[in-house]
Amino acid sequence: MILYCVIRTGVNAKHQVENGIGLLGRSNLLASRIVAEMASTTAYEPETYPHHWLPESVELKTWAQIEPWYQQLLAMPIDSAEALEAWLVAAGELNGAVGQEGVERYIAMTCQTDDPTHEAAYLEFIREIEPRLKPIQNEIRNRYLDSPYRAALPRDRYFVFDRALENRRALYREANIERETQLAELEQGYQKIMGAMTVNFRDQERTLAQMAVFLEEPDRALRQEAWEASATRRLADRETLDRQFDEMKQLRIAVAKEAGFSSFVDYAFRLRERFDYGVPETVLFQDSVEKVVVPLAREIQEERRKALGVETLRPWDLSVDPSGRDPLRPFKDVDKLAEGAEQIFREVAPELGRQFAYLRDHKLLDLANRKGKAPGGYQTTLEDDRLPFIFMNAVGMDGDVRTLLHEGGHAFHTLACRGEKLAAYRECPLEFCEVASMTMELFGAKNLDPFYEGKDAARSYRRLLEGIVLILPWIATVDAFQHWIYNNPAHTPTDRAEAWRGLIERFGGEVDWTGHEDARDFSWHRQLHIFLYPFYYIEYGIAQLGALQLWARALKDRPAAVADYRNALALGGSRPLPELFAAARIRFDFGADLIAPLMETIREELSQLEE
Ligand SMILES: [Zn+2]
Repeated sequence: MILYCVIRTGVNAKHQVENGIGLLGRSNLLASRIVAEMASTTAYEPETYPHHWLPESVELKTWAQIEPWYQQLLAMPIDSAEALEAWLVAAGELNGAVGQEGVERYIAMTCQTDDPTHEAAYLEFIREIEPRLKPIQNEIRNRYLDSPYRAALPRDRYFVFDRALENRRALYREANIERETQLAELEQGYQKIMGAMTVNFRDQERTLAQMAVFLEEPDRALRQEAWEASATRRLADRETLDRQFDEMKQLRIAVAKEAGFSSFVDYAFRLRERFDYGVPETVLFQDSVEKVVVPLAREIQEERRKALGVETLRPWDLSVDPSGRDPLRPFKDVDKLAEGAEQIFREVAPELGRQFAYLRDHKLLDLANRKGKAPGGYQTTLEDDRLPFIFMNAVGMDGDVRTLLHEGGHAFHTLACRGEKLAAYRECPLEFCEVASMTMELFGAKNLDPFYEGKDAARSYRRLLEGIVLILPWIATVDAFQHWIYNNPAHTPTDRAEAWRGLIERFGGEVDWTGHEDARDFSWHRQLHIFLYPFYYIEYGIAQLGALQLWARALKDRPAAVADYRNALALGGSRPLPELFAAARIRFDFGADLIAPLMETIREELSQLEE
């Protein structure tokens, strides 16, 4: 279950740009576009968006190259509302081009973490460029917010933009830049520790992602052995991870204090731009999940226990097929994965199939797992080209199909709003980004024929639905845990482990941890969000509720649900969160009365699936 969440990680990670892995530069992109045009008249042809202000061929790899452009931007005269809007477009171009430099370096590093040149290039960006950008971004923000011409801009169009910028200005403190750089390095250190974990199992050195494959093996003793090997390896680093986390916690609290907040919780909510919900709503989410989701999750686990014919469900019994069938193996090589996904997208909507074909043709995917690649999966945006890039670690498991459908949903979102003029509106609140991706997993779940024959498709669909029921309590656990951490900042690592255990008891299933209490009490170490993106997790729960609503509608009328989905995606981030939900004709609500009927629909759907 934890791995399931780890997979969905740095979504739309705003790590920003050079590649070295065959990513397309601007001129190549144009050349391949011509080839694509000749190959098929019906192929997806993304619009190109030439710069209005910045030269097309500008090089922005070093601070010496970047800085003069920002100086020019800040010196530009603004003498009318129109000039202010044009200036915003110019700022968006420059930020996008510099941002793409950072994104390309991030992609290159995660594709090959064992190549020190990529690591150095990325670290150079976060150490040499990002810290210098921050005060300039602040100046740009102030220039806009203080402009006398802002009042003449259409209020409805700029409301979301202004609200975000005013909030960022209120939170910004120059004295925090140093702390944020230290945090970024600690965060990178966490990824390095986790990425370096391997075990020697059956005479072979294996990554923990590779070890997860054994948890699907019908042989219970083999599963136990594999699970214990991984758990032991993780626990070997537990003190280092606890120490690192304490350092991060202290830095975060200091950042909040500097910005005038007595609590990191309130600071984090503002930083995450949670304008449309607050602490009471997240507590409501936790309570609703406990009330109406946890009982169904426990039913599912009880059925699993019976089907497996075991006395108690152990941590190594959670991924295997309960009827003892061999693991689903949907594809052998990643070309088949990409081809099958394209076919599914085409069945959901032909245009989406064409868009995905474009990503395949233009090498905007890196799908295969290999040694040295960072764990997990993400979709990021090459901002200057306004194109998505998908990264994942496919090894031939059922979950890989789902991950690609998920990241595909993010990519369609990027493509749906790439025509938006205001760069900030080409980004969207994470709570809605995940509606785009999670809905695509559900829309695609009844079209799995490229990967499965006969009953295997139903098996995969069942896994998806059960996974959703099981992930919601996990999200509530991770969320409640972070509230506890930052509401009780003086705690010790032992207090923290106890608090975590209490939450596992409240939200967890009927898993028997006897003999492995330590693995349970430190299992939060695997949840990278707690380390890397504090409080970023409930977004997945909020989005899942949105995705389930669209899915429930699609069960009755899929074309209508797909149309609503695409209409809402096209808005990008130009509207507040509740309006984005409304555009997809779904409710933005965390109450038990919204969630209970969704759980009922899942229960009915599960009961109709053939075993
Ligand atoms: Zn996602």
